Amino acid sequence: MADLKFDGRVVVVTGAGAGLGRAYALLFGSRGAKVVVNDLGGGRHGDGSSSNAADAVVDEIVRNGGTAVADYNSVVEGEKIIQTALNKFGRVDVLINNAGILRDKSFAKISDQDWDLVHAVHLKGSFKTTQAAFPIFKKQNYGRVIMTASNSGLYGNFGQANYSAAKLGLVGLANTVAIEGRKYNIFCNVIVPTAASRLTEDILPPDLFAELKPELIAPVVAYLCHESCQENGSIIEAAAGWAGRCAIVRSNGALLRQKPEDQVSIEAVKDNWSTIRNLSNAQKLDTIEDATGALMASLDALRGTG
Ligand code: NAD
Repeated sequence: MADLKFDGRVVVVTGAGAGLGRAYALLFGSRGAKVVVNDLGGGRHGDGSSSNAADAVVDEIVRNGGTAVADYNSVVEGEKIIQTALNKFGRVDVLINNAGILRDKSFAKISDQDWDLVHAVHLKGSFKTTQAAFPIFKKQNYGRVIMTASNSGLYGNFGQANYSAAKLGLVGLANTVAIEGRKYNIFCNVIVPTAASRLTEDILPPDLFAELKPELIAPVVAYLCHESCQENGSIIEAAAGWAGRCAIVRSNGALLRQKPEDQVSIEAVKDNWSTIRNLSNAQKLDTIEDATGALMASLDALRGTG
């Protein structure tokens, strides 16, 4: 199979000065893309800033024969990052929202600042940067967007309520960007990575840490951002050279009343609880219309018109 190339494409990777973002930027740079290496260069808790992280990755890409420019803005000012792409390269085709911080605390101890900062970087940063790129994508009838979620968001994780909430928020954001972008050939997908980085060095077991190289995830993200990839609105988990699709599913559920004029009793809910929560025939619904349609079918069954 011919190499998948990104010649002529301008790729913005936020938080590309380290970890996963660095691996993405290096891969895109090696496949012909012009890369905007954004990184605020602060600490893992969102403190400080420095140009060193982004500069080092730009140097690496250029040393390998690629083209890249550094950008040191915070993603909360995403429009400035997109402006860097336009100023330097005159266009933008791919946006990878990857920048991230942690402020882990058990739920009862989360301060407003711990909540706000984590939401600002992950959720608002992805919103601002994507919103700045979106009209450009629309005009050129092409765009690829990645949001970065986490298993912490999909399933929860002790000490990460602020981060979990922001990360699952990104799934909601991606779902709607995917719908609004589709007709303009703008596709938006979610990556759920697990990789060795400074964010996970004290979370992942040491033997696992060595195996979880960010470079093993980068090709999954790159494929999702290639013009030949038609995936849109999906959640893709990747780690250690494995990738799979995640989905929210719904059980077949149970009717909680027999006739349209009946009320629903608490006892009927209790009686049907095992059916309500039984996922053995669960379905993945693709649209809000599918969800509403299934509800209407239940109502028809109740009315005897189904
Ligand atoms: P990392 O700390 O190595 O990289 C994150 C980068 O983002 C850093 O270089 C940091 O300077 C930069 N950054 C932070 N705030 C920024 C801001 N406001 N503006 C611009 N840049 C900023 O961490 P990583 O593990 O590579 O994480 C990358 C992304 O993947 C994050 O969104 C993280 O939440 C997510 N993630 C990582 C894992 C994992 O296992 N490593 C798991 C799930 C999700």
